[in-house]
Amino acid sequence: MRRPHALLLPFPAQGHVLPLMELAYLMASQGFIITFINTHFNHARLLSSTSTPSSINFISIPDGMEPEDDRNDIAKLCHALMTFMPLHLRQLINTMNIQESDKPPCFIADEGMAWALDVAKTTGLRSTVFCPASANTFTNMRSVPYLIEHGIINEQDGSAMKPGQVFLLSPGIPPMNVDNLSWNCFLDSESNKIIFQYVVNNNKALKHAEFVIFNSFYEAEKAVFDYLNSCKMLPIGPLISKHSSSVSLSRCFWAEDKTCKSWLDEQSDNSVIYVAFGSLAIIDEMQFQELALGLELTGRPFLWVIRPDITGKATTRLPEGFSDRIRGKVVEWSPQQEVLAHPALACFITHCGWNSIMEGMSNGMSFLCWPYFADQHLNQSYICDVWKTGLKMMPDENGLITKEEIRGKVEELVGDEGMKKRALALKEMAMKSVDKGGSSFENFITFIKVMKDDV
Ligand code: UDP
Repeated sequence: MRRPHALLLPFPAQGHVLPLMELAYLMASQGFIITFINTHFNHARLLSSTSTPSSINFISIPDGMEPEDDRNDIAKLCHALMTFMPLHLRQLINTMNIQESDKPPCFIADEGMAWALDVAKTTGLRSTVFCPASANTFTNMRSVPYLIEHGIINEQDGSAMKPGQVFLLSPGIPPMNVDNLSWNCFLDSESNKIIFQYVVNNNKALKHAEFVIFNSFYEAEKAVFDYLNSCKMLPIGPLISKHSSSVSLSRCFWAEDKTCKSWLDEQSDNSVIYVAFGSLAIIDEMQFQELALGLELTGRPFLWVIRPDITGKATTRLPEGFSDRIRGKVVEWSPQQEVLAHPALACFITHCGWNSIMEGMSNGMSFLCWPYFADQHLNQSYICDVWKTGLKMMPDENGLITKEEIRGKVEELVGDEGMKKRALALKEMAMKSVDKGGSSFENFITFIKVMKDDV
């Protein structure tokens, strides 16, 4: 019998490529031939950061931008994707000659690339959408008609009718501030408008999806999944490497600093503060300096990921004499999942990216929340208000999170036994969901069976 084939298309950003790759490896372990479609730009970055062989096929297509363009400019990126990528994707699928095979492959697009379902439909592929963010974020993005109808956003550009307005989709779902909707948090209104249009286009194409699968689990977002109330919506997470450890992974745009593990091995259990802000967040220079001083002030060992572009400047300077005084380790990119699983860790200072949260939660972490944009504020609400496994960093009247605040919150967090207990209970719930018989496990099996036409 022919092996089933799946084509996977991530949104071209690290926090999207990574979890979709976890899914790719999981599907490969279920017998699927996998074709993973990156942009040329990201494909080159993945190749340069790793030399590990892979059991999945990576191919690439252009993203429509020039080599020197800034791909962290999400509005510019979305505009290019929307304009140029459908043609490249169609050409790619046509050259694969897949209509002639006996079973059409399944096409799995990131929800941020849902427009591609139109291409899949016209080329004869069956489609699924993968959501790397929370189901709550997905639901907010899909609520555009509701938000317009209730006078919460402007129909033309998605801007807030009343800035700062908080709305509630259903009891039990964390309230949402209209200013934090994904299309309302960029620097200028023109960018926001482009993103809004991009979201609206994606929403339209979702009707072709046989399933929407989530890197989340039912028990973590019960109220939202009950609100969505559809057997098409399948949480299958947390997707973490533990579940696909038998294959070599090449997943990151930056090379992982492998010395983290030996450094952590030298630290006492439950002592290290891990600090990482994901792949996109930019920290203002003054705040960066204050964070360094705050970490020093804790007197605790820390592992701090300072991406080369973390302050948006060509070079990032640490405070005078910092490196000689501290008990910490600084790296450009860590093997985060390995780090979070290490017994030396005490807590995680995070920008609240959904992957970081799923990874931290799966290791019983408690969090200090430092959100920047998009879904990060909403994710903070889950941590601090729903699961109660973390604390918010509070800025002073000038918008600065001071060194005293950092030290104070670290001490409060690590000294809170109740917080630790809840974080461990949540970890147990997450692990149960992906174990045989658990909710995510069963959803994944259902999905695989349908994709194999095995039902
Ligand atoms: N990550 C990593 N090493 C680092 C920092 C981050 O491997 O030093 C990974 C992390 O494990 C996560 C992803 O990068 O899977 C970041 O995704 P997230 O959703 O947390 O944030 P984003 O980058 O999308 O803002």
